[in-house]
This record gives sequence, structure tokens and C-alpha cells, in this order.
Amino acid sequence: MSETLARDLERMGIRDPRVLRAMAEIPRRLFVPEEFKERAEGDHPLPIGFGQTISQPFMVAWMSEALELRGAERVLEVGTGSGYQAAVLSRLCARVFTVELVPELAERARVTLAQLGIQNVEVRQGDGAAGWPEEAPFDGVMVTAAALRIPPVLLDQLTPGGRMVIPIGAAWDVQHVHLVRKDLRGAVEDLERFAVRFVPLRGAEDGVEPERLP
Ligand code: SAH
Repeated sequence: MSETLARDLERMGIRDPRVLRAMAEIPRRLFVPEEFKERAEGDHPLPIGFGQTISQPFMVAWMSEALELRGAERVLEVGTGSGYQAAVLSRLCARVFTVELVPELAERARVTLAQLGIQNVEVRQGDGAAGWPEEAPFDGVMVTAAALRIPPVLLDQLTPGGRMVIPIGAAWDVQHVHLVRKDLRGAVEDLERFAVRFVPLRGAEDGVEPERLP
């Protein structure tokens, strides 16, 4: 439990009480490797192996809040990583579908989520840039790795009235988190928010074959 973390996040501008409660209740230390557990409460990213990182708590909270979840939604996450973001989302919506490219990370996330008794998150190993067609459409889509552009497939899998948050930009360049809204007629609005730093979304589109990774 981390009430201190929730208070810090509130000071940093997070307002949604449901998001603050979820951040206070999900123990981040369970999602980080043994050697970083003492630093798990700090507002910074941490390594989780395979060259990947667990995002900083502020980013997890901001992206969660940006989806404006009320409780009944189905949400797709691309980039499960440690499973921490998925655990936070599990408290904010009805069902979470999360896709991770690295098999070991997907498996570890499954175990951690099960330890916490979280039952409304499904973890799939695969290329999340293809979304999850069998479960689409989604009321919210969250991408936690930086893409060069908004993947059209993910936009297709967003329900009218739905929201997507996604960092856009090359790994070596400045990236910005975008809030994308699809209105009820299907028109898309793309709002650039602030500068961020994420690991890259990997896939065939970037000239890297997902099967050959890590
Ligand atoms: N949300 C995570 C942090 C994500 S780090 C958490 O809460 O811990 C980004 C993750 O995206 C990494 O684990 C990386 O392996 C994964 N990733 C990168 N490209 C991907 C792709 N095409 N499909 C699915 N996952 C991908």
C-alpha cells in the first residue's frame, strides 16, 4: 500500500480519485526485480530485464487518468512489461487485455497478477501492434512503448467514443504522449500532450522481426 505515492501523485496533478486509489492499492514493489525493491516507491522508471523498464508511477497514473475510465470498459494494453500498468487498469475498468512481445515478461506478469488475485486481466504473448482482433473493439487502448506513428490497426480496434494514449516518436528522438479520441461518428482527434521517454514499440514495421527478439 502506498498512500505516500498517491499523495505525491495528487501534488503532481493527478485528480481522478479512482486512479489515486488504484495507485495507492497496487504494490509496485511486487512488479520490480529483487535488487530494485527498495526503490520501488520512487517516481522513476526501473529496469525489469530484457532491456525493458517499468514506467514511472506518474506516467502510469497520467495515462490511466487520460482514458477516463468509469468501470464498465474493456481496455487493450500494448506492452505488458511487468504487468504493473495492467494491474492498475484492472481496478479502473471491467476487463484488461494486455499483449507482450517477450515471452518471459508475459509469463512473469501472469504470475504476479495471479499472486495479487487479479482475475480480470488477460495476458497474451505476441506482437501488440496487431492489437487483439478476437476481443476488439476496446473502449480504451493504451500503448506503453513508443511507436513511430499511431498504428492504424489499433485505431480500428477502438470503439466510437473511445480513447487511446500512446507515446509517439523514435527511440533516439524526443517522443510525445498523444491522447487520441474517436468520436461517435468515427472521426479521430489527435492531441499531442507532453514530452516523454519510452522504450520503442518493436515490430516488423520498424524493420525488426518480432520473432527474432529479444
Ligand atoms: N506497461 C509496462 C511497461 C512497458 S515497457 C509496465 O507496467 O511494466 C514496454 C514493453 O513493451 C516492454 O516489455 C516490451 O517488451 C514491450 N513491447 C515492445 N514492442 C512490443 C510489441 N510490438 N508488442 C507487444 N509488446 C511490445
